[in-house]
Amino acid sequence: MDQALSSKPLSSSVRDKVFSEQVKILHNHLATSIPGNFICALIIFISTYEFSKQIAIVWFSAVILTSIFRFVGLYLYHHYPDHDKFHLSVLVSTMILSAVLWGLMDSVLMPTDPLAQTLVMVIAAGVTAGGIQTLNANLVASMVYLNVIILPLCAFLLLQHSFAYNLLNAAVMTYYLFMLVTSIRNNKLLTQSLYLKYENLALIDKLSVSNNKLLNAYQLLEKHDQKIVLMNKMNDQLQVCNDMIAAYHIIQSSGKQLFEDLNGSLFMRDILNHHLEMVATWGDSKMLESSFTTEDCLALRKGHAYAIAYPERNVACQHFTTPPNTSICLPLGNQLQNMGLLILHTPAKEAMTHEQIQFAHTFAEVIQLSLSNIKLRENLYDQSIHDPLTGLFNRRFLDETLPRELQRIIRDKQTLCVAMLDIDHFKSFNDNNGHEAGDEILKYVAMLLRGNFRGHDISCRFGGEEFTIVMTSTDIESAKLRLENFRRMVKAGKVYFNEILLPTITVSIGLAEAPLHGATSNTVIHAADIALYTAKQGGRDRIEQAKTHHVDSVDMTEKA
Ligand code: GH3
Ligand code: MG
Ligand code: MG
Repeated sequence: MDQALSSKPLSSSVRDKVFSEQVKILHNHLATSIPGNFICALIIFISTYEFSKQIAIVWFSAVILTSIFRFVGLYLYHHYPDHDKFHLSVLVSTMILSAVLWGLMDSVLMPTDPLAQTLVMVIAAGVTAGGIQTLNANLVASMVYLNVIILPLCAFLLLQHSFAYNLLNAAVMTYYLFMLVTSIRNNKLLTQSLYLKYENLALIDKLSVSNNKLLNAYQLLEKHDQKIVLMNKMNDQLQVCNDMIAAYHIIQSSGKQLFEDLNGSLFMRDILNHHLEMVATWGDSKMLESSFTTEDCLALRKGHAYAIAYPERNVACQHFTTPPNTSICLPLGNQLQNMGLLILHTPAKEAMTHEQIQFAHTFAEVIQLSLSNIKLRENLYDQSIHDPLTGLFNRRFLDETLPRELQRIIRDKQTLCVAMLDIDHFKSFNDNNGHEAGDEILKYVAMLLRGNFRGHDISCRFGGEEFTIVMTSTDIESAKLRLENFRRMVKAGKVYFNEILLPTITVSIGLAEAPLHGATSNTVIHAADIALYTAKQGGRDRIEQAKTHHVDSVDMTEKA
């Protein structure tokens, strides 16, 4: 224990607390030792009064006065407890004064009567033992007290020059040595236990501080874990998401939960790649323009993340209407292939944490990957339903949508028209003008279809030089009028190939109405096809409408 105490550097706060505790122990003992001391002094006074009256009165009065001083010291300690050094010096001085009086008592008041002498010796021994016990907490005070109280008695006994007194002196000296050793040991034990107590308390303090730190770290980890779970959930949702608009909604609601203390906005490039448009936002979006160009963002210009940590030192991007306190702009993709931008910024006067910045990078990477996957899927699907030469929908798209449209119009008790269109004598056109010129004609017809049939209508390249037009919510009469107009436009059109005007082409059209001529896509297309055949047979460059009523009508709905 000694080694442990001596090898460890003791903090000044522990030392101060031990000293304060020692002063407290000394004063606590004082409350009982003063009355005890007084009773002993009274007994001595009574037993020595008849041998030396005046000295006894003077001595007893001095003891009472010292006791008063000691009481005053005790009173001051309890009312002004913050001055330990002062209280210790008052206590030690009054104890020394008391020791001097008791030491003097042995030599000047020693009665001649053997019984009274024994009484004086017993009380002197008791007072010494009591005083030493009281002063154990402070070694200097107890040593001074012991010497002052015992040594005058030893000197007195030595001066008596008698064998009996010498023997008594030897006993007193033994008692003195015994008290000395006990006092040193007790003081050491007390001091050590006090140091241990306060070091333990200091350790408990340190432990609770590190415990709190651990708890905070654990809470942070838990929060981080929750965020990772949220991010995985967002990723799962985006994986099964087929269109960008739904993806923006998912990103918006996830961003709100993942960065609850931050404002965030997602910007995507418009079709022409000129502008970045705000597509998702959470928190305060008023600090940002809703649309801007690449030039307005330093991150997009540099091709990597741009953060503002010190608003007075960093330049804010132009897209901020109000400069943020801290912000980070994260481009989605690189400088060559950029699809958008994620901006996170703090409300005024707040700063973004390192953890938030790191998490923002991960968030941006996850959404970039998911959005490019969705875009890829969208592009693939787009390619799968479009004809590459004309840009019109293809037959696959017609097979997907026509059954659905038919179901809808039958349910809503409406009508729908299907027109089958075929270019007349296209084989010989190709033979005479070349296949490429033929392609130019196909593109021209597609362009006219796009210009004349839009909105709810669906124009498809059915195959080769055949086209299908589905006109929803239209009766056969108005469909015929529109198609007639279209037929004339085709015939009147001037198409150039290699700066040479190509011969005029004509088209034949077969028209059927659903559910009148067919309630399934096969039957209605078949009805239109037969009408087309009739148009060809009738001399081409005309419109024929289906005549026969199909038995399958309303009942024969097909599964979409
Ligand atoms: P009609 O329809 O008036 O009875 O005569 P047609 O000559 O148009 O008849 P047919 O349907 O037999 O010929 C279709 C021609 O369309 C054959 C083919 O060369 C041409 N064709 C089909 N697809 C394409 C294409 O993608 N590009 C070009 N240039 N020609 C195509
Ligand atoms: Mg044909
Ligand atoms: Mg043809």
